[in-house]
Amino acid sequence: MTAPPAVGSAGSPRTRSFHLRVFGCQMNFYDGELIRAAFARRGWRESRDPDRADLHLFHTCSVREHAEERVHSLLGALKRAKRERPELVVGVVGCMAEREGRELFEREPHVDLVCGSRRFPELPDLVERVLGGEERVLALGEGEAPVDAAVRDLGGHPGGPTAQVAVMRGCDLNCSFCIVPSVRGRVVSRPPAEVVDECRRLVDAGVREISLLGQTIDAYGADLGRGGDRPRLGRLLDALAEIEGLARVRLITLHPAYCDEELADAMARSPQFLRLLPIPLQSGSDRILRAMRRGYTLDLYRRRIDLLRDRMPDLELVSDWIVGFPGETERDFAASEAAMREFGFLQSYVFQYSPRPGTAAAALADDVPTPVKAERNRRLLDLQHELARERTAAMVGREAEVLIEAPSERQPGRWVGRTGNGHRALLPVGPGLGPGSLVPVRLEGWNGRELLARPRAAADPLAAATAFAV
Ligand code: SF4
Repeated sequence: MTAPPAVGSAGSPRTRSFHLRVFGCQMNFYDGELIRAAFARRGWRESRDPDRADLHLFHTCSVREHAEERVHSLLGALKRAKRERPELVVGVVGCMAEREGRELFEREPHVDLVCGSRRFPELPDLVERVLGGEERVLALGEGEAPVDAAVRDLGGHPGGPTAQVAVMRGCDLNCSFCIVPSVRGRVVSRPPAEVVDECRRLVDAGVREISLLGQTIDAYGADLGRGGDRPRLGRLLDALAEIEGLARVRLITLHPAYCDEELADAMARSPQFLRLLPIPLQSGSDRILRAMRRGYTLDLYRRRIDLLRDRMPDLELVSDWIVGFPGETERDFAASEAAMREFGFLQSYVFQYSPRPGTAAAALADDVPTPVKAERNRRLLDLQHELARERTAAMVGREAEVLIEAPSERQPGRWVGRTGNGHRALLPVGPGLGPGSLVPVRLEGWNGRELLARPRAAADPLAAATAFAV
C-alpha cells in the first residue's frame, strides 16, 4: 500500500512528507534510519522543515524523565499547528510510547498514533490507518515480525564512513533503576549471517567503521542456542574480520557480568576492534551495586578489566555512572570516585538519579537531595576530565592509525578522526586523504581536546580509493 498523494496548493498531487525527531541512545538513531527507509519505500519524502511536513514523528527515549518531558513540551508546541491543519498526523514512537501507552492520548489529545519500541516497522501501515480516518491508533508489545528486517534497506543510511548495526534487541537483566527491559523486552539476537551480510553491504556502499549495537552486547546469541553451536559475539568479530575494507568495529555496550575470556581473546585478535570499550560500572560501592541489582561486585568488575587489559594493554574504557541513587552516602560516593580513578576511564557519562515509574527502584525513597546529586555529578565529571587529560597526554609521542571521520569544525584545514583506541586526533588535510582514510600517524602533541597527528606514510590504498569527497 502506498501513501495517497497530498494535494498541492495548485491542486496537483504532491509527495507526502514526514519530519522525524529522534531522542536517546544510539539504538534509537539506528532505528531512525530504518524508519526513514520504510517511509521512503512507500513514496514519502523526509522534510527537514517541520512546518511543511504532513506527518510528525517523535522517536522517543524513556530512560530519563528529562527526555520524556522534552518530548511532551515539543508535542505541546504542535497543538496549534494541529488546530490549523487537522490533517497533520502526529505520532509518538519508541520507549516513551511503550511506557505511557494509551495515557499519552489522554495527556496529548492531538496525538494520532502511539507505537511502541518493537512495533516501529509497522509505522507506515499505522499511519495509513490514521489517514484512512481511524482515531487514536495504538500498537504496543511484540509485533508479528522481528524488529530487524532480514535485508536492511540502506536507503535510510545518511552516508559517510560510519554506520551502526543492531545485533540484538532487549535485555534479560533487571537493574532496579532501568526501564529498558519492560519497554524493549527480552534479548532477541539476529542470526550472525544476517549481521555479516548487512555489514558487508554497508562496506560495499563505502562504510569503513561499523558500531555493533546491543543493550548488553556481550550477551549476544544467548537466545539462539546452547553449548558449542550458540552464536557468540567473539565469533561474530572473527567473521567480520573477513570483510575486506571494514577498518573498524565498535561494540556498544557491554555488561561486566557477560564479558568472558573467549570474548576478550576475540577482541584482542580482531584487527578491526576499536579498543574503546563502553562497560558501565554505575557505582563503586558494592552496597549500591546490590541495590541497583547490577549483578556484579566491584571485585568482579575489577577482574573483568584486568582480563581485558591483560589482552589489550592499550584498551580505553568508557563508563556510565548514576549519582544520588537512593541511600547513596558520602562514603558510597567516595567509592565511586576511587573506582573511577582506579580504572582510569577515558570517558564517563554521569547521570543524577531520578526514579522511573515501573522500575523497582521507584519504590525506594529518593532521599539524596537534588543539590547533593548536582554536587556529586560535578565532582565526578571534574575527576573524569582530569583522568582524560592524563590518558590523552600519555599518547603523545606514540605511533597510531587514525581513521578520518570528517573535517574538523573547530580547526579549518584539519581532519578529525580516532586512533585505534578511541582518542580523537586532528591531522592536516592532505592529498589522497578524506573521511574513511586509515592513516598511519605519529602523535606529536595535544591541544587540550584532541591529539595532533602527522601522517607517517601514504594512507592505505583502499582508503584512498574509497575516501568520500567533502
Ligand atoms: S543491563 Fe541493566 S541498565 Fe542495561 S539495559 Fe539491561 S536492565 Fe537496563
